[in-house]
Amino acid sequence: MRGPRTDNLTVSRTVGANVATLRAMHGWSQRALARQTETAGGKPVGFSTICRMERAAQPDAEPVAVYIDDVVSLATTFGVTVQRLITPPTCSACMDHPPAGFTCRTCGTPA
Ligand SMILES: [Zn+2]
Repeated sequence: MRGPRTDNLTVSRTVGANVATLRAMHGWSQRALARQTETAGGKPVGFSTICRMERAAQPDAEPVAVYIDDVVSLATTFGVTVQRLITPPTCSACMDHPPAGFTCRTCGTPA
């Protein structure tokens, strides 16, 4: 059965994956990110929401729709555009952000 509620929710999955990547880049735990949204994002995004969002990004996980208000709050907190959060990274190996001092062997992007 496919329908609006059982769809793949590709964009929501992308948001979850991007949130996980950006969170790791900042060295924040999921709880730390939740706290950051309280001060920086304008709208607090709960710890459990962040967990669910990131888990839903796994290919074998149930997709979960994300709220646009949460996306805006997270984008503000990370200091990125909403477009960045809803767009899949060009390179899936380094998510367009190789670690400092490294060059991605897949796409050649230097840090
Ligand atoms: Zn790369």
